[in-house]
Amino acid sequence: MMQVFMPLNFLGFVYREMKGAMTNIENMFAILDVTPRIVDQGGATELKVGDGEIVFRDVHFGYGDDREIISGVDFTVPSKKKVAIVGSSGAGKSTLFKLLFRFYDPASGDISIDGQSIRNVSQASLRGSIGVVPQDTVLFNTSIFENVRYGRIDATDEEVREAIRLAYLSDFIASLPKGEATMVGERGLKLSGGEKQRVSIARALLKHPPIMVFDEATSSLDSHSEKIILKAIREISHQQTTLVIAHRLSTIMDADRIIVLDKGRVAEQGGHAELLTKGGLYAHLWEVQQHEQAAPAGKMD
Ligand code: ADP
Ligand code: MG
Repeated sequence: MMQVFMPLNFLGFVYREMKGAMTNIENMFAILDVTPRIVDQGGATELKVGDGEIVFRDVHFGYGDDREIISGVDFTVPSKKKVAIVGSSGAGKSTLFKLLFRFYDPASGDISIDGQSIRNVSQASLRGSIGVVPQDTVLFNTSIFENVRYGRIDATDEEVREAIRLAYLSDFIASLPKGEATMVGERGLKLSGGEKQRVSIARALLKHPPIMVFDEATSSLDSHSEKIILKAIREISHQQTTLVIAHRLSTIMDADRIIVLDKGRVAEQGGHAELLTKGGLYAHLWEVQQHEQAAPAGKMD
C-alpha cells in the first residue's frame, strides 16, 4: 500500500484527481517515467509566486555518476513570457522539466522561481504553482465535461464551460453524440491526440496556475489541430509564464525566446528571426524541418 500511496502523493501536482482513479496510476508512471527520491527540506517554506520568473543558473546534472546530461545550463524565463526549448532527441529537454518539478536535484547550480530556490520550498507548493500539459493526456472513464473539471475539482459548471470554450473544444463537444455528457476514456469514446491535448489545455485553464509547462504534442497532430492548439496556448501564455518543449519549430516561431539545447548545453538562444540569421544549429534544424514538412518531425521529441 505504501508503494502506491507515496507516488500518488508525489504525482499530485499533475492530477490531484488521481484519487479514485486507481486504474490510471500505472499510466501516469509510464508517462512521467519517474520514481520519487526527493524529500522536502526541514523548514521548507511555501513557494510564493508573484510575477513567475524562472531562472536556471549554471545547472549541472546527471542521472548517474558516469554521464553528465545537463552541463551548465543558464537561462531565464521572464515573467509572463513564453520561452521554448528545442533540440534533437536526447538533448536533455525533458530532463530540464524534471529538474524544474524537482523530481531530481541538480548536482550543482540552482533553479529558482521569483528568487526562491526550489530546493528550499515544499514540493506541494512548487507543483501546485505549475500547470502541466503533458504530451499524452490521461482521460478518466467519465464524461468529457467531468474530465475537464479535473483541472479544478471545485470549479462551477460555468467555469468548466468557459475553459472548454477557451481551449477551442466547444465545437468538438457539440458534435459528440451526447454532447458534454459523452463518456470518454478506455470505456468510452476515443479521442485523437489533438482532442486529448485540448482537454489538457482546458484543465490547465481551469487550474490557472502562474506557471504553465507544455510538452508540445508531436507529429500525431494534423495541421488543423495544431493551429487550434497554438491559439489556445497563446491564450494562456499572455497571462502566464509559459515554458514549452517544442517539437515542431513552426509552432514556436512566436516565442519571446527560444533556447536551443544541444547535448545538455545551451547552444544558442534568441528570437526566431535572430537565430535564423545566425545560421547555427537552430537554422539547421529549421532547414531540416522545412524539408520534412509533409512527413512527421521524427527526429525531434
Ligand atoms: P530529450 O527530452 O531532449 O529528448 P531527455 O532529457 O529525455 O532528452 O534525455 C537526455 C538524456 O538523458 C538521454 O541520453 C537519455 O537517455 C538520458 N535519460 C533520460 N532519462 C533518464 C533516466 N531516467 N535515467 C538515465 N538516463 C536518462
Ligand atoms: Mg523529451
